[in-house]
Amino acid sequence: DNGKSGRTDFMTHASELRRRAAACVPGGVHSNVRLIGPDDIIDSAKGAHLYSVDGTDYIDHLLGQGPAFLGHSPDFLTEPVCDAIRNGMIVGGQTEREVRAAELLCATLDWADMVRFGLSGTEMVQAALRLARAVTGRRRVIRFEGHYHGWLDNVLITDRDGAWEAASAGQLASHLDDFLVLPWNDADLLADVLARDGEQIAAIIMEPIMINSGVIEPGPAYLERVRRMCARYGIVLIFDEVISGFRLGTGGAVRRYGVTPDLALYGKAIAGGVPVSALAGRVDLMRRIGTGEVNHSGTFNAWAPGMAAVVATLEHLRDNPPYASIADYGAKLMAGLREIGESVGEPLRVEGLPAAFHVSFGEGDVTDYRSLRQLDLDRYADLADVLVRHGVWVAKRGIWFVSAAHGMAELDETLTRFKVALKDWLVGRA
Ligand code: PLP
Repeated sequence: DNGKSGRTDFMTHASELRRRAAACVPGGVHSNVRLIGPDDIIDSAKGAHLYSVDGTDYIDHLLGQGPAFLGHSPDFLTEPVCDAIRNGMIVGGQTEREVRAAELLCATLDWADMVRFGLSGTEMVQAALRLARAVTGRRRVIRFEGHYHGWLDNVLITDRDGAWEAASAGQLASHLDDFLVLPWNDADLLADVLARDGEQIAAIIMEPIMINSGVIEPGPAYLERVRRMCARYGIVLIFDEVISGFRLGTGGAVRRYGVTPDLALYGKAIAGGVPVSALAGRVDLMRRIGTGEVNHSGTFNAWAPGMAAVVATLEHLRDNPPYASIADYGAKLMAGLREIGESVGEPLRVEGLPAAFHVSFGEGDVTDYRSLRQLDLDRYADLADVLVRHGVWVAKRGIWFVSAAHGMAELDETLTRFKVALKDWLVGRA
């Protein structure tokens, strides 16, 4: 091994950096999501690859949890972003770039009249909920099991033996009081709840395709039924497209499933790795922010590098749509992983879409969070560690992302590394 592919046994530089990080950074990481790995110290990233400080060349199927959808630091993105960095990053007023970015986003989505930019998905969830409460004059919100909407007090929950509770010490559990957590993909159950409480519900928020827990598509007519029920009871329907937006196509889940929400949130892939998020919606709702009645603020909102990145990304998606090649790569990778599992007598579940899929072990149909929990998710998490050691950068929770920068060389190499890792893992467990 020349140290350029697969992991070397000598991690001296990474070990030293980990030791230094542990001394001044809680857990050595800056987001608790990263506490569970993958764990190495990365020096640089380009295209579909990450390069560690010790020279390991990882094939990246995590993509920064989604943003690097067009590969790491593509030239079409870095040039305008660097230009924006050189010419004033934040002005405390408006710029031409932000006008162009907003126009382009509205035109790309085509259902939304207006947008507001922010930095993280988490904050845009809050803006959407606040706006929904303001326009309806109601407090209560329906959300769904296994859907993630950021880390703040009113949305961070965890499943404790079937009860959805505050996930963090220090979290004000009272902030969860107005939230009802339901199983997703069950329109009859939702209809029953709304028949009783529909007039009190301000918003229904969901990932229109669940990607945070497994990759699970909405069942036939589920989104249409939810849409009709929201219209009937005057409830604001919010799609959290922080992961699905731009990854499933320029129209995200809205266009894929043909169902239009009242508000939607975008982040991650919208700016290729530069922090930008967006709240999009109809003018009759969004104008309440513009009058100052509903507050949405932020020092760094619409910062110039972010706006340059949105323009570059959306123009690139329009002029060079990557979706066919991502679908081709993803489908081949999914099939290849399944075949390798079968060849060693370890049938793997590889489910979802080519652009984002989920790998696990276990039996049974998966339609929602509860059925997903029946799978052997820990077994896959254990394999993911071994995969990382063999140079495939993946998350323990089983999600694999595909980017436009993954080509046939990466496909062959990923499958080769996967096969060796799977065999090693099986030997280790024997
Ligand atoms: N919504 C969804 C569906 C997400 O997947 C995430 C992050 O993973 C968020 C919201 C929060 O976004 P951010 O991490 O940018 O705050």
